Amino acid sequence: RVPPWREVRVKAPPRDEEIAVNTTQRVSATFVMLARNSDVWGALDSIRQVEDRFNHRYHYDWLFLNEEPFNDEFKRHVSGIASGKVQFGLVPESEWPKGFPEGIDQEKALRLINEMGQKPIPYGGSVPYRKMCRYQSGGFWKHELLDPYEFYWRVEPNVKFLCDIPYDPFRVMKDQSKVYGFVVSLYEYQATIETLWATTKNFTDAHPEYLAEPNMLEWISEDGGGTYNGCHYWSNFEIARIDFWRSEAYRAYFDHLDKSGGFFYERWGDAPVHSLAASLFLRPDQIHWFYSIGYRHEPFQNCPLPGFGTKCACSTSPDDPHNNFWQHGYSCTPRWRKLTGWKGMTPFSHD
Ligand code: GDP
Ligand code: MN
Repeated sequence: RVPPWREVRVKAPPRDEEIAVNTTQRVSATFVMLARNSDVWGALDSIRQVEDRFNHRYHYDWLFLNEEPFNDEFKRHVSGIASGKVQFGLVPESEWPKGFPEGIDQEKALRLINEMGQKPIPYGGSVPYRKMCRYQSGGFWKHELLDPYEFYWRVEPNVKFLCDIPYDPFRVMKDQSKVYGFVVSLYEYQATIETLWATTKNFTDAHPEYLAEPNMLEWISEDGGGTYNGCHYWSNFEIARIDFWRSEAYRAYFDHLDKSGGFFYERWGDAPVHSLAASLFLRPDQIHWFYSIGYRHEPFQNCPLPGFGTKCACSTSPDDPHNNFWQHGYSCTPRWRKLTGWKGMTPFSHD
């Protein structure tokens, strides 16, 4: 008798480790980390794990970006443990102005930022955080040190890689023609993005030619585009094609958002901005969930089901005190899986 899941199994896409485990031929790619000098210890923690779990077999390059020059301590420590070429890039002042960017009404911005700071909204009162989000949305990919590469993998200080990665995620992206890869998805605080959707719709109404066919509108909206449900890929982990952000569609979209001032008058995160672009300008098959990458950025983590991750310091068991977010009600990944007909872990799925 054929087990009921066999049929599903046949239709399932190849597992990531089947695609990319048997090749050591590198893709054109680099890690990218935006960090301050004071982030050095958290940066080391993250780099050490990426190296131990994956990069010691591939030696991909590392690019560190900062709006202030990195000091010798930062450079010495990270160079000491990165196994690939290390580069330090200075963010030009045009991308990270000392004050507010041109076109922003300072008084209005400061008033709104102070108001949001009185509410229990993460970073609601922070100006530097807003510059960071704007830079991660519209700046980092302009850096010339990224020119030689096809893909990047964003890593932040103080994250955890919970499982071995015995294959090359860049190779998965390349061989499967993926453009955007994520691990965790969730809902955004609506208070930080009050006019983001309206501003986005103004753009897509004026430029329907940029919309992919099909796209993932249904993932981000539950009423056919009337409202944004807040679903976004958590961009602290991101593997993507650099030329997606450099495309005419995304450049025009970012410029449109930037002109509206929402990065400062509100507190638009780069995660919803990247995610709206990916959902509207890419087809579902161009987006990849790295389900077998065990990853933690406080306070959420992705842990693969038994049999899908290797040497994981996490578990999908309900007894694990750390949540496994992809099965969680606050995650947008169940919605994503349903919409894309995702079958990868179906034979073992609990849901
Ligand atoms: P969160 O994940 O939203 O809580 O934000 P983080 O504090 O982790 O910041 C996101 C990324 O931007 C991390 O890689 C930080 O190291 C980096 N970052 C945040 N603020 C600054 C800043 O003012 N300057 C620089 N150079 N990097 C920053
Ligand atoms: Mn972070």
